[in-house]
Amino acid sequence: MKVIDILHTPNTKFTFEIVPPLKGSTMDDISQTIETLLPYNPSYINVTSHRAETVLVENVNGTYTKKIVRKRPGTVGVAASIKFKYDVEVVPHIICGGFSAAETEDALFDLQFLGIQNVLALRGDAEKGERAFTPESGGHASAKELVEQIAKMNRGDFYTPDLKNANTSDFCIGVAGYPEKHCESPNMETDLRHLKNKIDAGAEYIVTQMFFDNKRYFQFVEDCKKVGINVPIIPGIKPISLMANLNNLPQIFHIDLPSELAREVEKCKTNAEVRDLGVEWAIQQCKELKAAGVPALHFFTLGSTAKNIAEIVKTVY
Ligand SMILES: Cc1cc2nc3c(=O)[nH]c(=O)nc-3n(C[C@H](O)[C@H](O)[C@H](O)COP(=O)(O)OP(=O)(O)OC[C@H]3O[C@@H](n4cnc5c(N)ncnc54)[C@H](O)[C@@H]3O)c2cc1C
Repeated sequence: MKVIDILHTPNTKFTFEIVPPLKGSTMDDISQTIETLLPYNPSYINVTSHRAETVLVENVNGTYTKKIVRKRPGTVGVAASIKFKYDVEVVPHIICGGFSAAETEDALFDLQFLGIQNVLALRGDAEKGERAFTPESGGHASAKELVEQIAKMNRGDFYTPDLKNANTSDFCIGVAGYPEKHCESPNMETDLRHLKNKIDAGAEYIVTQMFFDNKRYFQFVEDCKKVGINVPIIPGIKPISLMANLNNLPQIFHIDLPSELAREVEKCKTNAEVRDLGVEWAIQQCKELKAAGVPALHFFTLGSTAKNIAEIVKTVY
């Protein structure tokens, strides 16, 4: 079933995203997370995608050669494995970074073979050590271009020009949105214009970056409406769980932690106390969002066991 059809059924859905296991690991490494959350009937599960990293390897003559290391391959395989093992819809993420449009088309055909109809289309971040995002040769510079490629494929217009009698795809495309603005955007107005371009290109819903103050989400939804974005906007939720989150979440995700939450974290003496505080904060956030009728609550597990998310979902639903 397509995500957009799921979102148009009544009540706030529960969804979450998982990170594929490291290269060489097995599905057992993520099945604990999935099985912790499965009893709460997720409407679908997202699977993140990760670009290859380049590392410098020293040669015998003292020079260095760039070597590509793909630490978390297999988003398509992991998504398929989850779909068939647990009989639940999946939404693999497709990113521009590190992939050519031809490679993306191959991945999309793999998804078609597997009967997977949903994708979240993202640009991805700059490579480690890179100052700005650089598209792969023959790849896309922005998520909008990726959405355009998928939407074209849905219309039977393939990247490979000489495909004869190829089956038209029917992907439901989601994209990312930023209630606190994407870090590279000069201002919110510009960011919303680019977000609208992704919708106009064929995206059918938005999943937001994490936020800890619901006012940011509600304002974002209002602002989206003002620029003519009328698709479902799913709030992204991440319960804080570590003392270090006080600094690393703003640093990595370019979001604010409200003063009240930051003060409470500072009072905690152990990570266990931070975890409990994070659960309580997320419960209050989710209750308010659900009461406001949001289409779904989307949880970022970020590779955790997700027992904290299970506690939240159990209380909220
Ligand atoms: C829900 C969610 C899931 C995510 N999952 C993943 C994942 O699985 N893997 C991963 O690597 N990353 C993931 N990310 C992170 C995401 O890839 C980064 O935030 C990335 O920096 C931007 O991706 P985007 O798709 O929003 O890019 P875009 O929509 O392309 O926007 C990127 C920036 O470029 C600007 N921009 C867009 N078009 C133009 C234009 N024509 N001219 C000038 N500027 C423009 C935008 O305003 C924005 O500032 C996720 C983010 C979210 C919110």
